[in-house]
Amino acid sequence: EKIPLFKFLDRAAHKWPKRKAIVFRNWSITYAKLKAQSEVFAANLRDAGIRKGDRVALMLPNLPQTIIAFWGVLRAGGIGVMTNPLYMETEIIHQFNDAGVRFCLTLDLLWPKLEKLRDSIPVERFYITTIGEGLKFPLNLLYALQAKKNRTSPRVPYDGMAVRPFKELTKGNGAFTEERVDAEDTALLQYTGGTTGVAKGCILTHFNIGANMQQCHAMMHTLGKKKETFLGILPYFHIYGLTTCLAWPTSLGATLAPFPRYVPLDVLKGIHKLKPTVFPGAPSLYISLLQQKDIDKYDLKSIEVCVSGSAPMPVDYMEQFLARSGTAITEGYGLTEASPVTHFNPLVGKSKNGSIGLPFPDTDAKIVDMEVGGEPLPPGKRGELVIRGPQVMRGYYNRPDATADVLRNGWLYTGDIATMDEEGYFYIVDRKKDLIISGGYNIYPREIDEVLHSHPLIKEAVSVGIPHEARGEIVKAFVVPHEGATLSRSDVISFCREKLANFKVPRQVEFRNDLPKTMVGKVLRRALREEEMAKAE
Ligand code: ATP
Repeated sequence: EKIPLFKFLDRAAHKWPKRKAIVFRNWSITYAKLKAQSEVFAANLRDAGIRKGDRVALMLPNLPQTIIAFWGVLRAGGIGVMTNPLYMETEIIHQFNDAGVRFCLTLDLLWPKLEKLRDSIPVERFYITTIGEGLKFPLNLLYALQAKKNRTSPRVPYDGMAVRPFKELTKGNGAFTEERVDAEDTALLQYTGGTTGVAKGCILTHFNIGANMQQCHAMMHTLGKKKETFLGILPYFHIYGLTTCLAWPTSLGATLAPFPRYVPLDVLKGIHKLKPTVFPGAPSLYISLLQQKDIDKYDLKSIEVCVSGSAPMPVDYMEQFLARSGTAITEGYGLTEASPVTHFNPLVGKSKNGSIGLPFPDTDAKIVDMEVGGEPLPPGKRGELVIRGPQVMRGYYNRPDATADVLRNGWLYTGDIATMDEEGYFYIVDRKKDLIISGGYNIYPREIDEVLHSHPLIKEAVSVGIPHEARGEIVKAFVVPHEGATLSRSDVISFCREKLANFKVPRQVEFRNDLPKTMVGKVLRRALREEEMAKAE
């Protein structure tokens, strides 16, 4: 169905006006109120001079304000540019200039970082909020006290027109005349994770995201028959969190429970208290919860559906989670370019551990040969995963070459190597860019990483290809041992030798205290490879 995204909120507000749309600590808001607030927000943005198609950055953690602002920006005809609050200066400069951000909605705590960049970004106006803004006592007080203690609350110098209090956008009675927003208009310039290169802005329309929400719903139709509560831990600034923890649950009339910071113990307490029914997550998140000593003290039984995506979910952790919570983790797959979800294991019917499941409804998927002509491959053969469906982006913003690389004849080339089994279930093997070619052999680093992870003294590990004169590349493993463990280079190598063909065994091993990661917890092989290249020069 082709409707502007905010119409899903309007429908939910019409159907369930009294239901809680958001709960945050001791504060909550109904669907009727949320709709009204988003109208006020849109009206105020309009008064502030926003025009249709203007880019508005939301550089905010998961907070009630983020949700209200998201719907307000879209309603006003703006294009959302979701920005990671932890971005470093160079990343902010890149994203804001690339997208041409005119307005920026952000937090007082982030102001010192942004203020320094004012001459390097095109933002005309900043609106600044605080974590506790608009919320009832005692959170505001608590926040103020905390800020005082840590001396972290920066004084924001509201100066003239350019730096304004966020409150200005939430106050008033918002006589709002509907903007003409079409389902085919751009809703978001959504930046990719930047795992394999510079972050690119995906043009996602209202229809793209709306289609993905409806596909989620069709695939998980058992959800939404009663009132659901969705845990909002995945960041809203990433498309995975935005679609599965904000947009889609809104269309189900579910209660959203945003968490601004990921603190495993707070999450366990939150689950215990809020009794959420749906928990969209990612492997690193589930794993760190399982590593909490006191996990057994908390009741996790309210959770009926756990969804994992964004990186491979190790099967033994899936089993541990099932034993602890009584709920299976169901794995899916997606990418920013597809709003994001394209595959999922059915909730009813056969779910296969280690597989990303079946293509979503209305989604075609096939495995094609990576070298010659992109011919479709039979079940069991490795090749590139390509996808076609209503959720696929229009292209990368201002990057015709990159767009032409990934969108070919109506298909999205994912850059992921995968296989399909006889029953049509898909399996991710590795990323094309991470493939290591050593002495003419193709080596999939994920296979090595899995062996390393199975070592009882290894906490985390990743293998990358590093340049080598004779062999092109050789495998190097970066290993983080468990605290207090004594592990030698030769222990690691002989362990791998028992489990891997000789050409895959790492030739070099380096021990580290931690691994570089993207903001959503994916290991940055690229950074490790670059370090090695720099050393080689
Ligand atoms: P960039 O595209 O800038 O390098 P990124 O790939 O991290 O960054 P995202 O769109 O956030 O950008 O991530 C999509 C990628 O995540 C997929 O292409 C795939 O490699 C990986 N991925 C997603 N789900 C899974 C899964 N279930 N198993 C394995 N990998 C997954």
